[in-house]
Amino acid sequence: ERKFFVGGNFKMNGNKSSLADIVANLNKIDCPNTDVVVAPPSIYLQYLSASITNQVKVASQNCYKVAKGAYTGEISPDMLKDMGIEWVILGHSERRHVFNESNELIGQKVKHAVESGIKIIPCVGEKLDEREAGVTENIVFEQMEMIKNNVSDWSGVVIAYEPVWAIGTGKTATPDQAQEVHDKIRKWLAKNVSDEVAATTRIIYGGSVNASNCKELAKCKDIDGFLVGGASLKPEFNDIVKANA
Ligand code: 13P
Repeated sequence: ERKFFVGGNFKMNGNKSSLADIVANLNKIDCPNTDVVVAPPSIYLQYLSASITNQVKVASQNCYKVAKGAYTGEISPDMLKDMGIEWVILGHSERRHVFNESNELIGQKVKHAVESGIKIIPCVGEKLDEREAGVTENIVFEQMEMIKNNVSDWSGVVIAYEPVWAIGTGKTATPDQAQEVHDKIRKWLAKNVSDEVAATTRIIYGGSVNASNCKELAKCKDIDGFLVGGASLKPEFNDIVKANA
């Protein structure tokens, strides 16, 4: 009942030439049983949405917490929607840890984005020292709490669990490690939101997903897809899209 969802987060990568190759590859995707969404740097959003000819949707990697105003360098959910962009990633670990976005700010962005009617991919995940200290659950639940407090409608929400130690490191969480946290998040949703939201909300995994580890991960009961970084820039992304086929 939860449609498989595969996101590609290009991060700050790509140029006109490499993105033309990536788009040619994305346009080969024919996978009606999977939602596919790719997030290029914002300056290329329009190029991607104009040149993708199939089911693949485009997401922004970020947006701000108000609709417009004196916020140099920011873009709003209204602007994304105006340009035909239906999705936005929020609270990615790089926003949290490289740009020091607080859990509170991410909550405000989540609230404004949902109220603006754009679909969101909020990200949660613990750092290595937090996992080693045994506080993974506390960290993830605290991030989930901030998301929950600001989501009025869960129909356009896909939760991404991205353990920070697995991002860009080549160190994927094992299927057991990932499944354990996904299961906890789903139970948390059941307890703190509703059984229905817990049953229907996609929880996707991110962190060094590639064509060779995606199939095992996709078998896990509570893993409903992926948020792919590095491998989303490569032809193997199309194989990851088919991970549960
Ligand atoms: P990698 O797949 O490069 O580890 O990145 C994961 C990620 O951060 C996706 O948002």
